[in-house]
Amino acid sequence: MHTLRASKYGLSIKQLPSSIVEVIDALTKAGYDAYIVGGGVRDLMLGLHPKDFDAVTNATPAQVKEVFGRRCRIIGRRFELAHVYVGRDLIEVATFRAPPKKAVTSAQGMILRDNNWGTIEQDFARRDFSINALYYQPRKGQVLDFCEAIHDIKKKTLRLLGEPALRFEEDPVRMLRTLRFAAKLNFEIADEIVDIFTPEMTQLLRDVSPHRLYDESQKLFTMGHLQRVLPLLIDFGVWKQLFAEVRPQVTDFIELAAKNTDQRIQIGKTINPAFFYAVLLWDNFLERCEYYYKKGVVPAEARAQAALDVLKRQSTRTVIPRFAETFIREVWEMQTRLLNPKPQQIQALAGHARFRAGFDFLLLREKSGDRSTEGMGQWWDAYQNMTTDEKEKVIAQYNRQRAKKRRTAVVVADESETHTEITPLVEEREGRRRSRSPSRNRGEAQQTKRPERPDTTLSDLDQNHPILKRKRVQRDLSQVIFGPTQ
Ligand code: ATP
Ligand code: MG
Repeated sequence: MHTLRASKYGLSIKQLPSSIVEVIDALTKAGYDAYIVGGGVRDLMLGLHPKDFDAVTNATPAQVKEVFGRRCRIIGRRFELAHVYVGRDLIEVATFRAPPKKAVTSAQGMILRDNNWGTIEQDFARRDFSINALYYQPRKGQVLDFCEAIHDIKKKTLRLLGEPALRFEEDPVRMLRTLRFAAKLNFEIADEIVDIFTPEMTQLLRDVSPHRLYDESQKLFTMGHLQRVLPLLIDFGVWKQLFAEVRPQVTDFIELAAKNTDQRIQIGKTINPAFFYAVLLWDNFLERCEYYYKKGVVPAEARAQAALDVLKRQSTRTVIPRFAETFIREVWEMQTRLLNPKPQQIQALAGHARFRAGFDFLLLREKSGDRSTEGMGQWWDAYQNMTTDEKEKVIAQYNRQRAKKRRTAVVVADESETHTEITPLVEEREGRRRSRSPSRNRGEAQQTKRPERPDTTLSDLDQNHPILKRKRVQRDLSQVIFGPTQ
């Protein structure tokens, strides 16, 4: 074991939030050993901004509770932990753990229950990567290094403690953690891990609960390096375990959405991991819609059923919580609405709770080369930047043009009169083309009552189908939650 001088590695107590220092100090004062451990120490050493700080101590959870009283709650079953509330911060305080006992592992060697308190040396050996096993005592200005982790930090190498195959068998989620840290820290994965990281090994992820896998997938999506981790997920065969039905391919749409997600995180914007699920599963959703259209199912019902099917299948791998599923379905449903809005609904649509996400999704589709958006991403983009007066004007204009279009669609006029397209709100921007441009086959556009929809919609429905004759009621869309019956 090496005791490193913290200041030599750029660490100082001044970098730390007062809450973690308060917890370490209170435990030390009560006679216990207490350290900061894990990602917080690692990130500080790498000059990154840790997202939080975890503490570890030789006090049992019950003893931690004695120290902090009502500010402390004991949580967890498999891992019993103390949560300490300091002001608005929550600090997780773990007790040193000893090696797991055989009796509480599954047939595959997975650890099931694990509240076996131990020494700091035992605790160290149980951690996953060397770089996650540095113990920092900020008052003493010392870092305890049991495994020359400092070399791995310098060499930017991800090294598992112990026998890699055994460590993956004990907890297959460590495979995901490997790829997450490799992408997040831009570290090399040590050869001895790469060697055993085989497709057979990734099969073990099937034994992990879909709830835990959803949590892990969220961490992958929100760590700020999604773009970098996606190819790793494919190369190491983890993608297939996480998103079984999604083709293992980073499409232009997925790539752009990942880049956009990373950029948002970088500038401190919030992101909803469900949004990325909506992106990943979009092609599967379209395929499933097609399946129902071919069977003659009414489009709205087909979309609703397709969404349920796709989400249900995904939930066998990662259980997406109900609220996130609703979000995904609404974003998908918004695509249909934003593509061909009724003039009288434009304003309400723009005020809908799911408008922003639906619009972002549409724009990403468009920017990644999806022609079926018909330039409506750009249309809505321009619309949002208009004053109220301008909006009223363009809606009125849109209304007139739509009405005209409907009339001319009935009377089959000559070629020169068929250009009844809605005027673009903005001039075409560089690199993007509105598919409603005159270059499109006008004769064809004229035959259809509606502007052409993406292949997922009404296009191949009989014009006499009841769904097309259904009387439309004007609704306040800001109140509507899209569901199967909408
Ligand atoms: P970050 O919080 O930046 O994602 P982290 O390393 O802090 O990274 P946590 O999940 O917060 O990750 O875990 C804290 C520490 O607990 C880790 O640094 C590691 O030492 C240990 N740990 C977490 N998960 C495992 C695991 N599955 N196996 C072994 N040790 C683990
Ligand atoms: Mg952490």
